Amino acid sequence: MLLKTDLGTLARVTGGRLLKGRPEAPFDAFVTDTRRLKPGEFFWALKGAAYDAHDFLAQAAPCAGGILAREKELAGLGALPPAAVGVPDTLKALQALAAWHRGRWRIPLVAITGSNGKSTTKEMLRSIFAAEGATCSNAGNLNNQFGLPLSLLELGPEHRFGVFELGASRRGDIKEIGEVARPTCGIITNVGPSHLEFFGDLETVYETKTELAGCLAEGGTLVYNYDDEYLSRLNGREFRKITFGRDPGADLRVLEGPKLRLEYDGTLLEVDLPYAGGHNHLNAAAAAAAALASGLGLAAVKKGLERYTPPPMRLEELKFGGATVILDAYNANPQSMASALKAMYERPKPRYFMLGDMKELGRHSERYHRDLGAALAHTGAERVFLAGPEMKPAVEAYLMAGGKVLVYGDTVDSWLEEARALIRKGEGTFLIKASRSMKFERIVDGLEK
Ligand code: ADP
Repeated sequence: MLLKTDLGTLARVTGGRLLKGRPEAPFDAFVTDTRRLKPGEFFWALKGAAYDAHDFLAQAAPCAGGILAREKELAGLGALPPAAVGVPDTLKALQALAAWHRGRWRIPLVAITGSNGKSTTKEMLRSIFAAEGATCSNAGNLNNQFGLPLSLLELGPEHRFGVFELGASRRGDIKEIGEVARPTCGIITNVGPSHLEFFGDLETVYETKTELAGCLAEGGTLVYNYDDEYLSRLNGREFRKITFGRDPGADLRVLEGPKLRLEYDGTLLEVDLPYAGGHNHLNAAAAAAAALASGLGLAAVKKGLERYTPPPMRLEELKFGGATVILDAYNANPQSMASALKAMYERPKPRYFMLGDMKELGRHSERYHRDLGAALAHTGAERVFLAGPEMKPAVEAYLMAGGKVLVYGDTVDSWLEEARALIRKGEGTFLIKASRSMKFERIVDGLEK
């Protein structure tokens, strides 16, 4: 972070008051964690879900070069550091500073939301952009009300492109951070049952994701999934958009087949995508559409996508002798399970499924696990391994729908060795997928390639 501004501007854009320090004194960067604060650095106090950095103000003040905090908390401090800005709300202030900073740069800036595929689409687009010029994007998974502004503050004069993912868990979240990002292009990957525990229902997921449409910079383009049951409601509406999907009505079409083939405006583009799985073709199409909306051509799309390296544990394809393991242990929800199951249909038999709980579904958990069990019975699976308390309804539904060989346990440990022995035999395709907390990557830990 190198903001190259001054304290006066900081106070003005955050709606705060400069309580100490000269307005023209430089302000370049800040830290939000007292444990990482070095002498002379500027400390920005934030209140998170689990902690309130204002509790550490007295500790930070003697060491800090400056502090931004709630004004009334600063009043309670004995001695202020050389610079002090008091604001009514430090998170709002952070967002205001990020919105101001974002406005300093006139570059294509893409914001991505959706229930599934945000990170993958972001990384694919980053790969396309990066082949053309320096690209700023979220560090790690900094995509929420705090993380997104912090990520935007990393924008600098060297950057020619920006691509950021926006996370949401309740109505209004996307509007709040979308207005900070003011993207020239917004992508909505899909609407599905992820984080349903917080959203309540799919209608609310739809409404939240589409808040992005109202946050675009002037003349901005919305890119969305034409095939999506919910997003297709946008199809008839008049605004600047590029749709993607398998449906012939989509602007950028994904053609069926194991290889990625995109069709846009009468041109066919073939891409060697180093990645497994049907829905990654849709993610690639979303990234391609946003690249086109940002002024790049199809040749740049192809070059960038072919250079892309997939992140670990997201439909990662691993070989153990003759066995192919599709490791998708990064996360699981009903939509990503369904598309992973679909991707298995294209794979050689025998097919094995090692699946664990889909978390965060709240009261909908039982129904979705039941549906999964029934779907599994029709995959032609050689053997199905399930683990986790929430999988119990899946076991029942699987057996009721005529599913055959099934191994079930409370945790992955109950059948870990059996699963490893099967992979070691070196035959067939294995799908490994569960929510993050189930730690299903352990299945392949220590297996020799
Ligand atoms: P997010 O950032 O939205 O959580 P990721 O790109 O990290 O999504 O992917 C997480 C998991 O979601 C992947 O491992 C995959 O199983 C699934 N997934 C990715 N893209 C899609 C998609 N377009 N449709 C359905 N599921 C997807």
